[in-house]
Amino acid sequence: MIQLYQPLNFLGWVYREIKQAITDIEAMFRLLAEEVEVEDKPDALALAVAGGVVRFEDVRFSYEPERRILKGISFEVPAGKTVAIVGPSGAGKSTISRLLFRFYDVSSGRITIDGQDVRDVTQKSLRDAIGMVPQDTVLFNDTIFYNIRYGRWDASQEEIEAAASMAQIDGFIRSLPKGYDTEVGERGLKLSGGEKQRVAIARTILKAPPILILDEATSALDSYTEQEIQSALESVSRGRTTLVIAHRLSTIIGADEIIVLAAGEVVERGTHGELLDRNGLYAGMWARQREADQARELLARTGEDA
Ligand code: ATP
Repeated sequence: MIQLYQPLNFLGWVYREIKQAITDIEAMFRLLAEEVEVEDKPDALALAVAGGVVRFEDVRFSYEPERRILKGISFEVPAGKTVAIVGPSGAGKSTISRLLFRFYDVSSGRITIDGQDVRDVTQKSLRDAIGMVPQDTVLFNDTIFYNIRYGRWDASQEEIEAAASMAQIDGFIRSLPKGYDTEVGERGLKLSGGEKQRVAIARTILKAPPILILDEATSALDSYTEQEIQSALESVSRGRTTLVIAHRLSTIIGADEIIVLAAGEVVERGTHGELLDRNGLYAGMWARQREADQARELLARTGEDA
């Protein structure tokens, strides 16, 4: 029996490896398929950013023909201002950021930056103008230095350290035995979600794009890390046109406008105070999140006492 077990175990391993490889290849083809989803027009010009005003005009969108995801979304992010999109899971929040980046084209309506339709400009110039701090940052299997410099290849050591400092990650990096030369990623030091996000913020600070998309992490961070990330995000978004895809309402209290999305439609909009006064969906989400936060804090404190 034992004689049989080893080869079978080995075969199981081979099967899993091959299956993983196929999954990776499938993922690669899906990515490639997505890449060719949009193409530059033959006469596409480079995007000319003046103030960086972002406008969604009656945008409708479906990934698949039979399922409508966005059902006529209109909003504007004035130059240098911050607009937050909130709403239940699956409402279409991240889809909005994918459309602004032009990973897909709208089914109808249009998205403009300083009056230029994103379909009329080159994808390269569009993506150069937009900085994205994603939910889950994928780090390269290289040093922290490399991972931050990826934001702008010609950045100097001083600029990289200044960006890390603004992103509140400089102290952590310096505490590591190899500092900025620490290898991270798959084979290197595993960073926490909050640390990875701050590396992404440092990268974006270096890139210094006029327009920013912040896709907040869904996972709850402890309140200390959340505060650090929050102040890092504030320093990167100051003076830039910013679209925040928010999961934690506490982080967007100061947004110039909050858009509440439900099932692909704008159901409420206003400032934090205005939305609380309305006592609608947003006010309900706010009350639930406060309760959950209080319960979490109580649990953490009970844990400390025990
Ligand atoms: P969450 O808060 O959970 O991140 P969200 O509001 O950001 O959700 P989206 O990621 O924009 O939601 O997704 C909106 C809807 O579109 C979901 O129902 C989702 O299943 C669907 N969807 C997202 N990406 C694709 C895709 N590539 N192909 C088909 N459907 C998709």
